[in-house]
Amino acid sequence: MAVSSANRPTIDEVRALVVHQWGYDSFRPLQREAIENVLAGRDSVVVLPTGGGKSLCFQAPACAIHGLTVVVSPLISLMKDQVDALHSTGIAASFYNSSLTPAERNTVIEAVRSDALKLLYIAPEGLLTSNMLTLLSSVPLAMFAIDEAHCISSWGHDFRPEYRGLKSLKHHFHGVPIHAYTATATERVRVDIAEQLDLEQPEFLVGSFDRPNLKYRIERKAGGIDQILNVVEQHKGESGIVYCISRKEVERTAAALKALGYTAAPYHAGLSDIDRKRNQEAFLEERVDIVVATVAFGMGIDKSNVRFVVHAGMPKSLEAYQQESGRAGRDGLEADCCLFFGGNDLGTWKRLMASSGEANDAAYESLEAMDRFCKSVQCRHKLLVEHFGQTFESTNCGACDICLDQAEQVDDPLILGQKILSCVMRLEQNYGADYTAQVLTGSQEQRILEKGHDKLSTYGLLEEYPKGVIRDWVEQLIGQGCAIKYGEYNQLQVTDLGWAVLRGEHTPTLLRPVSKQSKKDRKLDPGAWDGVDRTLFERLRELRRKLATEQGVPAYIVFGDATLRDLARRRPSTVNQLLAVHGVGQKKCDDYGPQFLECIADYCVEHDVALDVADDAAAAVAPPPRERKSLSAGAISAFPHFKAGLSIGEVAQQMARAESTIRGYLEQFVRHEQITDPSPWVETETVQRIRSAIDEIGNGRLRPIFEHLGGEVSYDDIRVVASCLANAND
Ligand code: ADP
Ligand code: ZN
Repeated sequence: MAVSSANRPTIDEVRALVVHQWGYDSFRPLQREAIENVLAGRDSVVVLPTGGGKSLCFQAPACAIHGLTVVVSPLISLMKDQVDALHSTGIAASFYNSSLTPAERNTVIEAVRSDALKLLYIAPEGLLTSNMLTLLSSVPLAMFAIDEAHCISSWGHDFRPEYRGLKSLKHHFHGVPIHAYTATATERVRVDIAEQLDLEQPEFLVGSFDRPNLKYRIERKAGGIDQILNVVEQHKGESGIVYCISRKEVERTAAALKALGYTAAPYHAGLSDIDRKRNQEAFLEERVDIVVATVAFGMGIDKSNVRFVVHAGMPKSLEAYQQESGRAGRDGLEADCCLFFGGNDLGTWKRLMASSGEANDAAYESLEAMDRFCKSVQCRHKLLVEHFGQTFESTNCGACDICLDQAEQVDDPLILGQKILSCVMRLEQNYGADYTAQVLTGSQEQRILEKGHDKLSTYGLLEEYPKGVIRDWVEQLIGQGCAIKYGEYNQLQVTDLGWAVLRGEHTPTLLRPVSKQSKKDRKLDPGAWDGVDRTLFERLRELRRKLATEQGVPAYIVFGDATLRDLARRRPSTVNQLLAVHGVGQKKCDDYGPQFLECIADYCVEHDVALDVADDAAAAVAPPPRERKSLSAGAISAFPHFKAGLSIGEVAQQMARAESTIRGYLEQFVRHEQITDPSPWVETETVQRIRSAIDEIGNGRLRPIFEHLGGEVSYDDIRVVASCLANAND
């Protein structure tokens, strides 16, 4: 039964409610418009990217309008989280699905019948039973909110036949508005949604697909785990996801991270349901910081404070990339999305697709588009947004590796481009990128000499550069349309645009190779941390984790990261001060206020830190800079043995490796863990001798020390002791 449209609340009333119940002080883009449509009782299709804040678009007006809002959602597993989140905000909501006992179901039915609920979450198959239809026909209904509405369209990427039945809603519930919500962008799907739901002159609202708070960075894989560690270390103690293509890689990476002392859990389809569930919950409740996963992870993961998403290999499409990377920073705070792609990723995906029956032209096309995206040298934000059919105005997004100047242009891209393309021509457009790069470096490889390509005028033309760098340039030229790959062996062919380069009419963009040092200098946006007391923030996180675990809810349901930061910045001492903090509404203030106020007060007394800091007076507490040197996965797997105090010989035996290899690992261990005591690996007397030598001649290069000791002490021992002494002096 439709409720009368008289006495509809105004947008200002809903806004006040959002401030009061949710503790948000403003709407996100399009939320206001979407809510106004709901208040006007007009059908609508709302497209907002993941993290755009779709839920509030129906939850907030649902609280203000008379009658029940029925939320249709495909994922039973998520309903509980959503309802828990609503309860924590003080809103009467329930879900109805097969996970409930018969008694629990009756309670829900009673609540619906007595008009005690504002929102009811239900899956389409449960909604379309005759009992449920009859029940709902007998109570006042405010609206239907169809979540993940693209599931109704066979053009969408996640078609679900049971959604098709929703077409009958308009027939059963005449006059009850229907609002559809999705993150899938294409025009075709949008129109299809409206048609399949029989919407009446719906309003279409399509949000921007840009996620400005996500910082994209894309690099070619350097081998090993270093690139991943770099990201993880910048986010110590924060939540993140590392996506790998294969299960094996998931296991290996998770094990390496654990060995280094990070809390990490694997997630892939090869694990048992119980293990998957346990690992997912540990992540949501923040007992584990990092989930290492295949794409099996993430559907419907509603965790707002994921601070980084790493792709340890290329995703299978830009849609998948947008969705997976989009799981970062849903709270609107800055987050890092780093993608490391390798030459084999494309082939790996093709194999996986062939074995799972997913292989088809469309899938291959998506793969190729993703591959081009990785190798492109244009703003990542711009390319992504344009892929989804929108335009991107800014010429410098300030939030991707390209725009952040980390990728500087080479001095003379025209000449460089011409050299490369003319080599492609000299090779009669018959060879691939790798071979071309080899010829340009002047490689002495057999097959080049055999074919006489060392006689070409372009042979060795770029000998001052490493092959990998030239390869990147070739890919950049391809990404900009100056050349294409064709044929079975990905041979290169110069395009019309490439010819324009050769004639000097078009200058390509070619990037200077990024040095390791400049990568290290990259800073995360410190602005959001201005004035935040990091130690207090950690304390508050601890408290949040405790409360979340006690109540069996995801941590973000207690408070989001933005709220914790604001708490650690303002350090409120009273309930009124607490209510001024971002994300703290009346209900949460009642539920958690006392604990958090006490924790803050204790901390401030202990550390002699001021309470009730005004906005502008907050002093910046910068995070300490971190340094790290290169580490290998092999070394990491040896760390636990070293920690257990095993000797080099014992570790070598355990790991079935040569002692010399283990010594290399030990060196990395000592450096990485800042070990100061060499005694487990070097005899006390030897340590003493090396020590006095260093006291006399200083802790510089090893050779003088070796000579000072008359060649009687091995380099291996000197190296360990010298490193430990250096660590002790740091
Ligand atoms: P979507 O369903 O579109 O992916 P959600 O509805 O889950 O996104 O919202 C994403 C996050 O944004 C949630 O953590 C939510 O609490 C937060 N959020 C939504 N609207 C606002 C707002 N107006 N101000 C601050 N945070 C918001
Ligand atoms: Zn950019």
